[in-house]
Amino acid sequence: TVALKDVSKVFPNGTLAVDNVNLDVNDGEFMVLLGPSGCGKSTVLRMVAGLEDPTSGAVMIDGEYANDLTPRDRGIAMVFQDFALYPHMTVENNIGFPLKLAGMESTPREERVANVAGALGIGDVLGRRPSQLSGGQRQRVAMGRAIVRRPRLFLMDEPLSNLDSGLRAELRAEISGLTRELGVTTLYVTHDQAEALTMADRVAIMRKGVLQDVGTPTQVYGRPATLYVAAFLGSPK
Ligand code: ATP
Ligand code: MG
Repeated sequence: TVALKDVSKVFPNGTLAVDNVNLDVNDGEFMVLLGPSGCGKSTVLRMVAGLEDPTSGAVMIDGEYANDLTPRDRGIAMVFQDFALYPHMTVENNIGFPLKLAGMESTPREERVANVAGALGIGDVLGRRPSQLSGGQRQRVAMGRAIVRRPRLFLMDEPLSNLDSGLRAELRAEISGLTRELGVTTLYVTHDQAEALTMADRVAIMRKGVLQDVGTPTQVYGRPATLYVAAFLGSPK
């Protein structure tokens, strides 16, 4: 589990980006952090990843203060919107690279890579280089590379925002399917309401740094906690 306890972030220029957020992400859960541009979603994710420190409050991972864990012990994998692949490596080697770094032998490595690539629908392009792939395929490779080591926590920040709508819909199902299959706890950031409601086990909705509501898609849509949430999700009156 990941737990944010009274977490706030004030940037040096005085911007209060995250305002006293409390949020638990349960083991194996697919949690979507949803809200408009500038509401503080990426800042929350970056604090969980350890790329930013909270100004106050704490991030706990499996009951330990994240600050006390080295980045490696946090067991976190992250995919951003502007992911980068290794251009000179094949798809197979891109995905398998983290396993190679970890010292895994080539036979189990190939098996694991084939598994993940199959689940992401790129099993037939393992021998290609990134320049020979479509945007959607590249994004799948980036996902595969991030998740292949079975991190205990998978963080994604608007990973589909550069893709066209057909591809987005396809990848939504694949991503949530894959993370559930692997049982990886996931925190997924988006500003897209439909994406959040279709992918999430639970949705956390933010506005101006403040967490407004947390619940299953049915709960937040059907019984929004605030008028803002109702308007943002287009809930029926
Ligand atoms: P988007 O959907 O556009 O990515 P977001 O919800 O991810 O937005 P954040 O990037 O977390 O929003 O930013 C939250 C607030 O903090 C914004 O007002 C932003 O301008 C500000 N901010 C973010 N990073 C910094 C920084 N390094 N220094 C100062 N202000 C920052
Ligand atoms: Mg952002």
